[in-house]
Amino acid sequence: MQVLQNNMKYFSTSNNASKVDFKEATVNGQAPDKGLYFPEYIPQLPKEIIDNIDQYSNEDIALEVIRPYVGDTIPEEVLKKIVSETINFSIPLVAVTENISSLELYHGPTLAFKDIGARFMSRCLSYFVREENKKVTVLVATSGDTGGAVANGFYDVPNVDVIILYPSGKVSSVQEKQLTTLGKNIHALEIKGTFDDCQQMVKEAFMDDELTGKIFLTSANSINVARWLPQQFYYFFAYRQWADKKNPPVISVPSGNFGNICAGILAHASGLPVKHFIAACNANDVVPEFLRSNNYIPKKAVATISNAMDVGNPSNFVRIMEIFSGKTDELKNNLSGATVSDEETKTTIKMVFEEEGYLLDPHGAVGYFALNEYLRNHPNEKGLVVETAHPVKFYDVVEPVIGTKVSIPEIVEVQLKLRKKSVLMESDYESLKAFLLGR
Ligand SMILES: *Cc1c(COP(=O)(O)O)cnc(C)c1O
Repeated sequence: MQVLQNNMKYFSTSNNASKVDFKEATVNGQAPDKGLYFPEYIPQLPKEIIDNIDQYSNEDIALEVIRPYVGDTIPEEVLKKIVSETINFSIPLVAVTENISSLELYHGPTLAFKDIGARFMSRCLSYFVREENKKVTVLVATSGDTGGAVANGFYDVPNVDVIILYPSGKVSSVQEKQLTTLGKNIHALEIKGTFDDCQQMVKEAFMDDELTGKIFLTSANSINVARWLPQQFYYFFAYRQWADKKNPPVISVPSGNFGNICAGILAHASGLPVKHFIAACNANDVVPEFLRSNNYIPKKAVATISNAMDVGNPSNFVRIMEIFSGKTDELKNNLSGATVSDEETKTTIKMVFEEEGYLLDPHGAVGYFALNEYLRNHPNEKGLVVETAHPVKFYDVVEPVIGTKVSIPEIVEVQLKLRKKSVLMESDYESLKAFLLGR
């Protein structure tokens, strides 16, 4: 029997805020000192479970993983329900070649891995606000995938209003439909600017005391612990499906804000067998550059064909440093970086499609390229790439590369026919503020 020592507390990585429990960390999003919340200790999964993982269901595993982080802030029965609703779609590990498998995280409602974190977070937040009977406004900027996942996760949730800012003309057609067609408590603001402009407007709203005195605002981006922590689940599910348990996988993760890979590394620190991690980046390669030179230099993001990873200063990297207690040597033993160009990404999509009959999306292709290179230098190992989105989400990139149409799943077919509803807005904070106060 597992005895909970007490309620898990979270400290701020900036070390200037008081410790909070899971509920407060979820409701606050970011710590008041602008740091990220991090668990006081890393719970260990019982060895018995790891050694006999095929005998456990995904739900059992997920519950076991998340329970110590939640503590008694959510009753067991409610948590069980939240977990089972979070993962109620398939998460298969598919063999692509003899040495490379693909962990398909895109079978959820918005066809990207962000569904898992967003579904878990929205249900936790909904539980916490229902308890208190207050109304919260979730304010979030998206470069594409976050918006859809958050919109879907929070759709029709009582006491929660969702406002999504997205850059006009800079998200794919599928992405735009996913965030503008739901209605009800989901509102889309189409900003005449870039993703960085959207992000800036959101940041200003959180810093505006006049506004936050009138509206209870929270964020739904990947720094929220309730979005970050459940991403550990599928690393365990992958291992459950991994044939050669004596030779654990090298795991390549297409990375932007580094929340996903950081969850994988946390799972490993909790006892999950993993040979090595690869942070696969596009031209926005601050972390790979740090691993090469020991210099961490944030850059302005540049646009690539794997646009969900166009991040110039990844928020979650501080959490990775925290897991390794700041020891760079230990970090480098566990994590390699790779920089993959748009050309290499396209060549990979084409090659894997033609030679293996498997279609990658641009993000998965970045991960695949990096893994393939790594395995070339480590011939005794095998690996998996975390395939973060369905290729159809990026058909505008994929179709010209492979020269054929991508078949559209029915769920997307329906979305594409719905009418877009959005409010077009200049990229200045005063417009946003007026909108929020005038509702
Ligand atoms: C968000 C996203 C990523 C990057 O994930 P991080 O957790 O921010 O590193 C990669 N691929 C896709 C398709 C995404 O939507």
